[in-house]
Amino acid sequence: MTEAPAARLAAFLEQLEDARRARDVTVVVVTKFHPVELVRELAAAGHRHFGENRHPEARDKAEATTDLGLVWHFVGQLQRKKARQVARYADVLHSIDAIELVEALEGGEPGDERPVRDALVQVNLTDDPARGGVEPTGLEALAERVAASEALRLRGVMAVAPLGEEPGRAFERLATYAERVRRLDASADWISAGMSADWREALEHGATHLRIGTAITGNRAVGG
Ligand SMILES: *Cc1c(COP(=O)(O)O)cnc(C)c1O
Repeated sequence: MTEAPAARLAAFLEQLEDARRARDVTVVVVTKFHPVELVRELAAAGHRHFGENRHPEARDKAEATTDLGLVWHFVGQLQRKKARQVARYADVLHSIDAIELVEALEGGEPGDERPVRDALVQVNLTDDPARGGVEPTGLEALAERVAASEALRLRGVMAVAPLGEEPGRAFERLATYAERVRRLDASADWISAGMSADWREALEHGATHLRIGTAITGNRAVGG
């Protein structure tokens, strides 16, 4: 690595400042495959929002940084049987894509710690039902279920742009799904979209949360 992650973060935020046109945008730095030292380095540079896509790696980093008061975002596919474990440390769950997942988050033993977590409904923008995310036809039913849950606070939608499609077109569709969710709950106005390669297109289509990995962290440093 030639450049330090903190310098890349500063350079990224500068580009974002030019592009965001005074809108509030949260940058979630996705630190998967990188050691916790990288999180500490970026936190020391003033960054607070971090994301991971896998349990238990996500838990290990969140637990190793409890002293820093960071906000942890879980952005990967959420398995039903691990959902409650993830909800113990992740402040924001970006990938709610099934009613069963909401039910799993509500389960557990009486007296269990039950923090209310911010939740985004992940929408599948591909034609492949096996990809993560609820099908657009099931969007309202799932969003309503999340809104009614005592375990979750409905915040909006999340998606990943499909391979092989111009990301701007996919994010344009996502904006219509976001609008459908806002019609159910006006306060659910977050749009989590955009990664290192397509954040500008996401921003053009209303993204409020960018999930940025390699543009800030560099290529993966360890394992994975
Ligand atoms: C890894 C990951 C990102 C960040 O990807 P980059 O291309 O490295 O910016 C964003 N969202 C999700 C769901 C991811 O798994």
